[in-house]
Amino acid sequence: MSNATIQRAMIIGGGIGGLCAAIVLRQIGIDVTVLEKAPVLGNVGAGLVLWPNAIRVLRQLGAAEAIINAGSAIDHGQIRTAAGKILSRSEPGELRQLLGEPTVAIHRADLHAILLSLLPAGVVRLGVSGFTVAPSQTGVTVNSAGGQTDRIDLLIGADGIHSQVRQQLFPAVKLRYAGYSAWRGVVNAPDTVAEGITTEMWGRGSRFGVVPIDARRVYWYATLNQPAGRDYSPVSQKALLQQHFAGWMRPVESLLEATPAEAILHHDIYDIAPLLRWSQGRITLLGDAVHPTTPNMGQGACMAIESAWALARSIAAAPDVPTALAAYEQERQPRTAWITNQSWQIGRLGQLENGLGCRLRDAVLALTPASVVKTRLAKVTAYPDAPLFNQP
Ligand SMILES: Cc1cc2nc3c(=O)[nH]c(=O)nc-3n(C[C@H](O)[C@H](O)[C@H](O)COP(=O)(O)OP(=O)(O)OC[C@H]3O[C@@H](n4cnc5c(N)ncnc54)[C@H](O)[C@@H]3O)c2cc1C
Repeated sequence: MSNATIQRAMIIGGGIGGLCAAIVLRQIGIDVTVLEKAPVLGNVGAGLVLWPNAIRVLRQLGAAEAIINAGSAIDHGQIRTAAGKILSRSEPGELRQLLGEPTVAIHRADLHAILLSLLPAGVVRLGVSGFTVAPSQTGVTVNSAGGQTDRIDLLIGADGIHSQVRQQLFPAVKLRYAGYSAWRGVVNAPDTVAEGITTEMWGRGSRFGVVPIDARRVYWYATLNQPAGRDYSPVSQKALLQQHFAGWMRPVESLLEATPAEAILHHDIYDIAPLLRWSQGRITLLGDAVHPTTPNMGQGACMAIESAWALARSIAAAPDVPTALAAYEQERQPRTAWITNQSWQIGRLGQLENGLGCRLRDAVLALTPASVVKTRLAKVTAYPDAPLFNQP
């Protein structure tokens, strides 16, 4: 399969979405360059969960087996109170039977390394600190810092939630602060966490999650309601977390204790209210650049991976660029909007502070039948249901 109308594409951003797009566009015969501002790729983040919808696409990209081997399969999920009472269970292991793919937790750096290994040297240009874009009817000219000029047929902004490409296309779009911050860490602690089980504890205005990401390491995350923009020193943020989560069920305190203060990541949580338009001319957007979602469903990176695949599929099927980009938006907008909105609502529930509200919430969670949880999870993770294209 090749695509006559797009021979050269450029992707701004070598994150999960950008790298997946580069791999899959190359599979349909497009010559791709990725501009990434970081001088080194993969030195990023903590852990993340990839659900079967993402693993299915990653299998098409040739990355699934390496990811499954490097990460940790998750078969059970639990939501508990801070004291440890189980409120809800989910069974990702059953999804594997239903959808044919596992749910996998992995360190982001490992995921990046695997994706990068599927691209030939030279596709990703690192340390590119700036660029300008000049679109025309027939192509796009990109001048990047360092004096390089590229004339391409398609430009894809995969440059994350603060996307410069999006700001150029849709300057009026604003980020939406969710009302809470998240902290993340990874520690060597294989004995404190059961293999294959993720646990999220819900308190009042705060949550704590524990995810095994391989045989040695555990990824944890914590959320707290607070105004956006608070800045902490490493020591003060660790102290804040230790104070807030004191007395929570095991192994919360020991995971915090074991994490070096300077290794704890802190981000305020934002998304963007779902956008209707993603593209202009020969420029489009992908991943957090256009559909960032709060992390409550663990689907942000999965959506970026799905979008990379959907974009390539639309290009492969369309006679020209406008038709391809319109089909891509049409396919992706409803699903990503749904995930963004669901995730926002789950975050509001999870971050409730009011005592009565929390008791009601916990009671409803505990009474929700397992079949309802299963149906909801299957709906989130069943995509893509359209036929996959044949690789050359
Ligand atoms: C606390 C938390 C937990 C999460 N957990 C999960 C999870 O379990 N599962 C899941 O699926 N998702 C999860 N996510 C969401 C996930 O992290 C994002 O959705 C995902 O990283 C988006 O990928 P992306 O490639 O679109 O953007 P990014 O990962 O942000 O990558 C963008 C890339 O573009 C580069 N860039 C930016 N600007 C420029 C520029 N001007 N020029 C060149 N390069 C540029 C950046 O350096 C970066 O490499 C979580 C998010 C948070 C905050």
